[in-house]
Amino acid sequence: MPEAIVDILLIEDNPGDTRLIEEMLAESPEVNSGTFTYELTFAETLEEGLRLLEKNPIDIVLLDLSLPDSRGLATIIKVKEKAPDVPIVALTGLDDHILAVKALQKGAQDYLVKGQVDSALLIRSMRYAIERELMTKDLERARKLERHLAYHDTLTNLPNRSLFYDRLNQAISFAKRSNNRVAVLFLDLDGFKRINDSLGHSKGDILLQIFAQRLKSTIRESDTIARLGGDEFTIILENVHSGKDAAMVAEKILKVLADPISVSGFEVHVSASIGISLYPNDARDIESLVKNADLAMYRAKNRGKNNYQLYNLSMDARASERLEIENSLRRGIENNEFHIHYQPQVHLLTGELTGAEALVRWRHPKLGLVYPDSFIHIAEETGLIIPLGQWVINEVCRQNVQWQESGIPPLRVSVNLSPRQFADKGLVETIYGILNKTGLNPLTLELEITEGSAMEDVDYTALTLQALKKMGVRISVDDFGTGYSSMGYLKKFPIDKLKIDQSFLRNVPDDQENVAITTAIVALAHSMGLKVVAEGVENVHQERFLKNIKCDEMQGFHYCRPLALGRFKDVIKNRNRTRISNSLQL
Ligand code: C2E
Ligand code: MG
Ligand code: MG
Repeated sequence: MPEAIVDILLIEDNPGDTRLIEEMLAESPEVNSGTFTYELTFAETLEEGLRLLEKNPIDIVLLDLSLPDSRGLATIIKVKEKAPDVPIVALTGLDDHILAVKALQKGAQDYLVKGQVDSALLIRSMRYAIERELMTKDLERARKLERHLAYHDTLTNLPNRSLFYDRLNQAISFAKRSNNRVAVLFLDLDGFKRINDSLGHSKGDILLQIFAQRLKSTIRESDTIARLGGDEFTIILENVHSGKDAAMVAEKILKVLADPISVSGFEVHVSASIGISLYPNDARDIESLVKNADLAMYRAKNRGKNNYQLYNLSMDARASERLEIENSLRRGIENNEFHIHYQPQVHLLTGELTGAEALVRWRHPKLGLVYPDSFIHIAEETGLIIPLGQWVINEVCRQNVQWQESGIPPLRVSVNLSPRQFADKGLVETIYGILNKTGLNPLTLELEITEGSAMEDVDYTALTLQALKKMGVRISVDDFGTGYSSMGYLKKFPIDKLKIDQSFLRNVPDDQENVAITTAIVALAHSMGLKVVAEGVENVHQERFLKNIKCDEMQGFHYCRPLALGRFKDVIKNRNRTRISNSLQL
């Protein structure tokens, strides 16, 4: 295969030298054998040479450094300016060695001293110059790639954390000078971990890539989207006038995300929670700006996800309030401020007491009775749920043994396990230890886990539940229907019971959708050999409906509210009475 034709531009004003080069090329063996083919173009002045460089594709310039309109190194600089990627071989006079060396420093790839050149040297020099130029370009490309990788996320090719902070720094400096505002959006995908676990990590990665592309389509070229890691993204919006502008972008993002994403044939619905903070309104330094956007994002999560929140000062107030709760939680555990209420569960057909759920309460020295919704999530985030949860399990087992010792027939009591407790590697051992210490019959202990906990790591769940089952402990899935559990997995777990979340009982039997869902859950659970408990039963209409669809048990204010220890003991002592009197429902 013949080599590509080399386009040579010779810029030389001396006709003798020009002729010489022409001859050398013509008589070169490489040219004659066809291994070097070329096209030669001539210019007698630099000006003409530059014009030709602009017009024609040139592979190499042979450049005389002593032209009528330019002499010395300036000649090289001008050629380089015009065509930075075209290699140059400088042609110098006999006594110009120093100039020749300087020519190399200014960007010529090689030099030839007139009068000391033969045809082989000329061809070699040109080949060498072209190759060297290519190598330099490759090297530059590699360096560029290296720089890019240092500042970009490899999965999505978006700027990474370092570049994000860099750009935010720049944006803020610029905004300071121009009296403008900058918005930071902190974005976190809702329930991504569950999606990732059920689809597999490689599909999760594809999802993140598609998600990143969609995000990109929502903002201007000049704005920055970065991936901080995992499913956390940040966006810098420059030149915004107010929070409203940023809110509009957030709305656009949520809208764009509303369409399902198709990942290898699966339709996946993703949503995101977005927090927004504004420079200089919400913070003047980068760290606080990002922290505040993050706080606002958490608020968005707490408000039911799939929404955005603008940062406001009260979020900080909440942060300090949380810190106070965290500290007093610690003290509360040490000072035995927690106690347990029990809510009875009954058989729907017979009205017989079948068990009870233990619900923790906090008797706070200043705040009075505090319900779990106000502190469980903080205990969960801080890890305090582990000692608190241990206390609850221990207390429930201890009390249950005492009841039985006082002659009350055995009763099954269920205890809630929050996700962090369930994920704790010491869980099985802790329960084993407590059962051993208290001597409780394991059949009378039930653990309630949530769908989310179960699906977090399905292998771990299967192993843990099997170990607990082996001990004899019963397992139920709490708030069923609110998570993303796959029935296929549920089948693999040794579960005894599903507790239908109370939201599905709202307005039954009038709410047709809820009627359909609860009916389906009961049928499905029964087909898998599981019992079903309906939670949050508040009236007789719900009770009748549940009887009709053959739900097994119910729990709710309609039958009995959670009771403090003393009153609950009265109930279980008198459990032969089928119904608990209304006076107990306080
Ligand atoms: P959960 O496990 O779903 O418990 C049922 C919640 O519904 C309880 O709220 C109960 O008082 C309430 N409830 C019962 N019947 C009705 C009804 O008819 N209508 C309505 N509207 N509500 C009803 P509580 O005691 O405030 O507990 C809230 C959540 O806190 C529990 O939800 C559970 O997830 C968690 N929790 C409670 N105790 C513990 C505990 O010891 N450890 C852990 N990790 N979590 C706990
Ligand atoms: Mg529960
Ligand atoms: Mg529940």
